[in-house]
Amino acid sequence: MDLLASLNEQQREAVTTTEGPVLVLAGAGSGKTRVIAHRIAYLIAERGIPPANILAVTFTNKAAEEMRERVESLLRGSKLASAPLISTFHSLCVRILRRDIEALGEGYTRDFTIYDQDDSIRLVKNCLKELGYDEQRLSARSIQSAISHAKNSGLDAEMFAARVEYNDERRAAIARVFRLYDERLRANNALDFDDLLIKTVQLLRRCADIRQHYNAKFRYILVDEYQDTNALQFALVQLLTEQQQNLCVVGDEDQSIYKWRGADITNILNFEKHYKDARIIRLEQNYRSTQNILDAASHVVSHNTERKGKRLWTANPTGEKIRYYQAPDAEMEARFVAATIQEHLVNDPRARIAVLYRTNAQSRLFEEALRRLGIPYQIVGGFSFYERAEVRDIIAYLKLALNPHDSLALQRIINTPPRGIGRQTVDEIERRARDCGGSYWEAISIMTEQGDGRARAIAALKGFQQTITRLVTLAQRAPASEVVKAAIIDTGYELALKAEGTEEADARLANLQELVNAAVEYDAREGGGLREFLDAAALISDADQYRHDARVTLMTMHAAKGLEFPIVFIVGLEDGIFPHARAAADRAELEEERRLCYVAITRAQRILYLTHAMKRRVYGEELSAEPSQFLSELPLELIEDLSRGRSWLSLKRASIALEDRYAPRRYQGKTYDSVDSIAEFFRRRNARTDQTDRAAAVASQPGEFKPGTHVRHPKYGRGLVIKREGTGDSAKIIVNFPGYGQKKLIEKYANLEPA
Ligand code: ATP
Ligand code: MG
Repeated sequence: MDLLASLNEQQREAVTTTEGPVLVLAGAGSGKTRVIAHRIAYLIAERGIPPANILAVTFTNKAAEEMRERVESLLRGSKLASAPLISTFHSLCVRILRRDIEALGEGYTRDFTIYDQDDSIRLVKNCLKELGYDEQRLSARSIQSAISHAKNSGLDAEMFAARVEYNDERRAAIARVFRLYDERLRANNALDFDDLLIKTVQLLRRCADIRQHYNAKFRYILVDEYQDTNALQFALVQLLTEQQQNLCVVGDEDQSIYKWRGADITNILNFEKHYKDARIIRLEQNYRSTQNILDAASHVVSHNTERKGKRLWTANPTGEKIRYYQAPDAEMEARFVAATIQEHLVNDPRARIAVLYRTNAQSRLFEEALRRLGIPYQIVGGFSFYERAEVRDIIAYLKLALNPHDSLALQRIINTPPRGIGRQTVDEIERRARDCGGSYWEAISIMTEQGDGRARAIAALKGFQQTITRLVTLAQRAPASEVVKAAIIDTGYELALKAEGTEEADARLANLQELVNAAVEYDAREGGGLREFLDAAALISDADQYRHDARVTLMTMHAAKGLEFPIVFIVGLEDGIFPHARAAADRAELEEERRLCYVAITRAQRILYLTHAMKRRVYGEELSAEPSQFLSELPLELIEDLSRGRSWLSLKRASIALEDRYAPRRYQGKTYDSVDSIAEFFRRRNARTDQTDRAAAVASQPGEFKPGTHVRHPKYGRGLVIKREGTGDSAKIIVNFPGYGQKKLIEKYANLEPA
């Protein structure tokens, strides 16, 4: 049968064992994600399972989208009555809660608001202020992360407070903020990201009928990237598989890289404990990478102790060596990467290339270098569209259109664009809201009804009230895109930007236009409305920005999980950057960094570059950098050194070579057996090899250098021919030399050699 024809035996077993729990444990590139897609198609096409009974969980929205496309193409031709649900855990929870949250009996209603991380941090800020803490001393960001961590470990505010040691002031403060934060969320009918999971698990635990409903609905469940699920997600899966256990999870413990977000490798162990008769299937053939890349990856990760260990082989060719480059400084590193990318694109304009780094901040130099050469790229992560201030402003208006009691949203835009509602008035609103235990919206109503306060302030508040009320009315009958337009135009937002008249304001206007486009797309979807539009915007993550069709992609190693590229650069391989400084003193963290290294290396299909710089600016100061310890964990014989001059790698090799140099040897009839004479031996032998190389190079020199070929210049080193102009003695040649840029040379006098 077609669906199974393109699978190996173990993959086939994982696809066709549809009944009962299945755990697929396998290394990178072994086809785990492929198994999930095929299994969905198989369930539908071969087992006749109604698509509506199938739930597949992916790690990102983007991965969900791709999975949907894959399944569709596998099922091409068959007409489906319904679609399987393919979504992230968070989207799944939103779906469940939008239907059933009221059954929790905690006062939440189905039109709850979702607070993303940025909202959560702002709410924490408000709480800090209200409790009289100094924000300089307690950072809102770190408190938000402490709260999130607690929630993910199953602690609520009370439990957290109960565990604070009596002299730990910082945690005592966090406990107080935590309590107020939760109160505010509840009062605002809002859930943060963690709550989405927590409330869903609570709901399914408490309400047997709802649990049964979803058990009956999702009869077949599949989970990709299982190694990165956390305890709550595992609990959710358990609750959904209470009645039947047709569950297939796939994962790789060596790729668990989200421990800092609460992911728990023990979920893999727990799986075997909880699902006693689970079938465990191992996939051992890697289809993605060359043997060399796979060897490099396996070698690095074998330094970890906390792993089960597994075999991974490939029928792919050995492939090229791993390419290594040491740059004198970070700028030269970026230039090398950009110039090398240019070479690849000249040779193959359709090449797909990724530059992977540890943190988003590292992208800047690479962007600049690529821009200088005019190479288009996409950047994933960092400042995403939905994080831009103007987009968030309009989203705040939209949230108010659905729920004017959302005080956090209201606070954000009450005087954006400026409408004469000053700091004092806002403080007054806050105070009144606190006094009456209501929302800012209610406080504003009280103030405008009573009409006390300064007349101008009251007039401004009335104007604001009318604006929001109009949006609320519109949202009840108009499609999402209409409300978005109104939020941009009727609020005066557009006018204010136009009045600025700067280039930056124009760019912001263009972003808002893009937001309207997104809403129009949403309106065209089945069941899509303003609510769904806002849900999707709230749940978007960095990795979702990735588009498969771009030639060059810059992204963090985390965001690259699950993806593959023919050519990959891993950059900034320096201690303190990668592995991250935090890992220096903590073995568990170091192991997590090493898994990240394994993930990064295994994204590469054919060619892998590893680069690092000897100097790098940190907070504006030039500091010297040590090569990453992961470099020395690689099998050195698999690496080709592209650095100019002496590199860390060449020294490392020399020192290893030195160790076995003491053995006496014979060369051309002479014995070399002392340290000095051995050095002499190498000088002679190398001189000879150089001569032979040179002779071979001259012999093979063609009449002219064609674009796309490599040349070597006495001063600039190795470079790529971009263009030739003219012929004969006057022929000029344009060559790009990594680190030096493009040079136009007269071919005859340039002393070029083929390289
Ligand atoms: P990761 O651990 O990185 O998520 P994975 O185990 O999910 O990797 P896939 O992405 O499913 O691996 O597969 C890796 C590559 O190998 C893909 O290009 C996929 O199409 C290919 N592949 C997997 N199995 C087969 C097969 N049986 N025949 C041909 N190609 C395959
Ligand atoms: Mg995968």
